[in-house]
Amino acid sequence: MRTERTEPADRPVALVTGSTSGIGEAVARRLAKDGMRVVVHSRRSAETGEALAAELDGAYLRADLAVEDETRGLVEAALDRFGRLDVLVNNAGISWPIPHDDLAAATPADWRQLLEVNLIAPWVLCTEALPALRRSPAGGSIVNITSHAGVRPKGSSVPYAASKAALNHVTRLLAAALGPEVRVNAVAPGLVDTPMTKSWSQAQELWRDSAPMRRPAQPADVADLVASMVSSDYLTGEVVVLDGGLNLTR
Ligand code: NAD
Repeated sequence: MRTERTEPADRPVALVTGSTSGIGEAVARRLAKDGMRVVVHSRRSAETGEALAAELDGAYLRADLAVEDETRGLVEAALDRFGRLDVLVNNAGISWPIPHDDLAAATPADWRQLLEVNLIAPWVLCTEALPALRRSPAGGSIVNITSHAGVRPKGSSVPYAASKAALNHVTRLLAAALGPEVRVNAVAPGLVDTPMTKSWSQAQELWRDSAPMRRPAQPADVADLVASMVSSDYLTGEVVVLDGGLNLTR
């Protein structure tokens, strides 16, 4: 995982997990456009990651966030590469549909897998990143990508929703604990058009029929909000639901 440091710490550095597709890719592109050096990360897709990192003048790192040692090593490798870390976006996540009323179908193995990647990995990354975030000249910023399913009783499965609800609460707890040096916020998206939701036709119909904005979000909609959370010096402890207003209707 260790790489040689080849770049001076000339601009703020952002690590965006799971950034070779979907929301993470849009966030990486947006933060790079805003002038940051971006560390692109994925579990697989090294070729796509290297290409995106080259396009954004950033760096690419691979790590499986279901494996604690790899998760810990990710921050160390980012620091080896750029010598500083100012922004951490915990975006990588997993989800698959399990009916909420079929309790036996949500097995302890499902729970462990979902909690490991969606909750424990972000915690480990925050822990590892904290010393560097505290040294950030403009103040460090953590943005967690959670879900509306962590705010209201819905979502692809009960363990997924619980993992995101826990991350929302961790967001508030860490904001209280880490200010003023480090701000912590979360975006809780509703349906977003990404590879994860490509086949979720019922949800797509629901958003087109019922959401006040009459469409699911695009990844760039989420990236816009992440970018404003990163640049808003006074914002901390907020969990912003970004669902095109669907929560107003049901
Ligand atoms: P996506 O499948 O395009 O992205 C998920 C990313 O997480 C991928 O890059 C994947 O490689 C990475 N990832 C998954 N498991 C990993 C592991 N073990 N180690 C390292 N990386 C891993 O999906 P997306 O929709 O862009 O999802 C991004 C985030 O947004 C997730 O946390 C998801 O729960 C959340 N979210 C998505 C939606 C939506 O409708 N798409 C809604 C609410 C929340």
